[in-house]
Amino acid sequence: MSSQTNLYITKMRPQEILMPVTAGLCCKLGGFHIDPVRPVERAVITHGHSDHARPGHGAVLATQETLDMMRLRYGDNFARTTQAIRYGEKLRLGDVTVRFHPAGHVLGSAQIEVACNGTRIVASGDYKDAVDPTCAPFEAVHCDVFITEATFGLPVFRHGGAADEVKKLLASVSLFPERAHLVGAYSLGKAQRVIALLRIAGYDAPIYLHGAMEKITRYYQSRGVALGDLRSVKGAKKADLAGTITLAPPTATSDIWTRRFPDPVTAFASGWMRVRARARQRGVELPLVISDHADWDGLTATIEATAAGEVWVTHGQEDALVHWCTTKGLAARPLDLVGYGEEDEGETTLSESGET
Ligand SMILES: [Zn+2]
Ligand SMILES: [Zn+2]
Repeated sequence: MSSQTNLYITKMRPQEILMPVTAGLCCKLGGFHIDPVRPVERAVITHGHSDHARPGHGAVLATQETLDMMRLRYGDNFARTTQAIRYGEKLRLGDVTVRFHPAGHVLGSAQIEVACNGTRIVASGDYKDAVDPTCAPFEAVHCDVFITEATFGLPVFRHGGAADEVKKLLASVSLFPERAHLVGAYSLGKAQRVIALLRIAGYDAPIYLHGAMEKITRYYQSRGVALGDLRSVKGAKKADLAGTITLAPPTATSDIWTRRFPDPVTAFASGWMRVRARARQRGVELPLVISDHADWDGLTATIEATAAGEVWVTHGQEDALVHWCTTKGLAARPLDLVGYGEEDEGETTLSESGET
């Protein structure tokens, strides 16, 4: 057989490597699913958010941090067996090779490269190309097919610098020393990033935590993320909370729980805070545009950086991004995967919590 025919035979069609099915992205040749939304025999997981990392699988392959977060949230028996993999490490699974690369989304988050006979697909999970002191920076990986999310896949979404948003928060704290500042933030990733940014901005007073985010925040500290003096808000006296900052899950900042704070200023750290109506609707006094997802410029720059000829778009605002790809001469299609975008900045989280 000539080498030419060989090349022709060995180059695989991407759909033979990864296929969207009800349970998630399926790799038949490797015998696994990526971020399955239903229990499967073998799961390969991008990061710890609950819409991607679910309990009940047979075997789970993920970074050590993702495995630890799953254990913290679901208990020791969240899967039958687990295997940790490092960024850059190559692993043979069935007929494919799998490699993890940093996704810059939350601690331990990874893009998953699946390669077979010269065809390379990268499933990026959730990602951002913006700087984040709490996790390894995003790495663009050259590939044939890039699978991208589209949470903020509209040109109106431009997040700006997170450090500037944190300065706004600090300005408000010094303007209202008699009031407490309550910052709504998702408990895995966003909360720790806001705390780290406050420390980098020079804020060294104790920062208070809602009980629901203590475990995961302590875990970040145990992995060497510098977060300074953190205290439990439980048991703190109302008067002592004047002039302080407390991080809490988004739903807590609008309920009865806030009565323990003196005249609280309510802030919310989310990419959706770019939309004023959303902030108003939630009763957010101080919107902070801080997102752990790539904005429009981040999504399009990343697609270009991967040099992929084909793009598959998963959860979020697929249409605009698919259209942008086709104007750039790239083959693109929405994957219509169901079940993502529920934990962090997905639409559902916001509408649900907006009602309370
Ligand atoms: Zn996520
Ligand atoms: Zn997600």
